[in-house]
Amino acid sequence: MKEFSAEAQVLHTPYNRPDAYHALSMPVYHSAAYEFETAEQMEDAFCGRTPDHVYSRITNPTVQYFEDRVRTMTGAFSVTALNSGMAAITNAFMTIARAGGNIVTSSHLFGNTYSFLLFTLADFGVEIRFCDLTNPEEVRAHIDENTCALFLEVITNPQLEVADLTLLSELTKAARIPLIADTTIVPFNVFKAKDFGVDIEIVSSTKYISGGATGVGGLLIDYGTFDWAASKLLPRFSGPFGKAAFTTRLRKEIHRNMGAYMTPQAAYMQTLGLETLTLRFEKQASTCLQLAGMLQQVSAIRCVNYTGLPTSPFYEISLKQFGPYPGAMLTFDLESREACFAFLNKLKLIHRATNLFDNKSLAIHPASTIYGTFTEEQRKEMDVYPTTIRLSVGLESADDLYTDIIQALEK
Ligand SMILES: *Cc1c(COP(=O)(O)O)cnc(C)c1O
Repeated sequence: MKEFSAEAQVLHTPYNRPDAYHALSMPVYHSAAYEFETAEQMEDAFCGRTPDHVYSRITNPTVQYFEDRVRTMTGAFSVTALNSGMAAITNAFMTIARAGGNIVTSSHLFGNTYSFLLFTLADFGVEIRFCDLTNPEEVRAHIDENTCALFLEVITNPQLEVADLTLLSELTKAARIPLIADTTIVPFNVFKAKDFGVDIEIVSSTKYISGGATGVGGLLIDYGTFDWAASKLLPRFSGPFGKAAFTTRLRKEIHRNMGAYMTPQAAYMQTLGLETLTLRFEKQASTCLQLAGMLQQVSAIRCVNYTGLPTSPFYEISLKQFGPYPGAMLTFDLESREACFAFLNKLKLIHRATNLFDNKSLAIHPASTIYGTFTEEQRKEMDVYPTTIRLSVGLESADDLYTDIIQALEK
């Protein structure tokens, strides 16, 4: 046979497997597809009989390494990394919801989550039932035989409301529906969701996990605790797959069809972020508590909201669930919307930006930004007020942040 041309040989030079250089960090595998020695091996991989990677919309070695690390940290049954927190939320609901079913939740939700449930999912015939999650009786009354899940944020943003997860998980167990929680505000190194009866945890890894806000990402964590076979949910999967029913539908159907897997570059950076998560969280959250106490003494500030403050109505339950440092985000109220804008415009150190848990402190006026396209009435419904400033505390000292806040409050 004639030799292939140099051009063809360049294109097809194999690389050594595994990594040729014994790299200490997981390499970033920027490859859309994976090659097989034989058609038989290819068939086995495509049909799920072997765990080999076939295509990076479905799995990728760098992303899987990130998922494995999160699984190690959380003790989860399965972890799926998506390309944003919203992708994790949409994948979770597309897996669990169906037309004619309903989701019980609160109107105290992250803006896009609220919009996804109320507008996007509702158009597919899923009913969204809002109720007060701090009132278990009201929650119980909203659950019926068509309920697919109870969904909540463990500390709501920006209202900073905390529901009693132990009480709610008793309710969901009795009703045989999964408890799904967005835990973005308090990461899994401090908040052990499984211990409080959460079956499926959702995290925007854009926030604490990424470290330095290097990119967008999301995690869908299944603890394998929900008894699908005893429920009426996921009927095509609960029989053959048991406790793996949710993960199986997610990984074999929804996640592949929606195509929102994390990219290897993002997974690499977020894996680095995981390595400093505990350190950053301790520093940022303890600074947040200290600063919250200092801001309570400032007369231009009408009230400071942080569930680690004994003045918070959720202090006790927050302490029980999240420990003394419930995240590094606080809010405070000024006398008017105009005062909030003037304050933001005078900040010198703190950045005017959205996002949470960047290494740098960030301030935003939620009502005019994240919730800016909702109507006044909808904002009222969500308890988002024009007088509220949200502050995400970074790695600066409490003194430096206080100095900036005080100078920005001066008339
Ligand atoms: C930011 C955020 C999200 C959305 O995550 P993205 O990564 O921005 O898509 C969802 N829930 C909460 C509580 C958030 O703070």
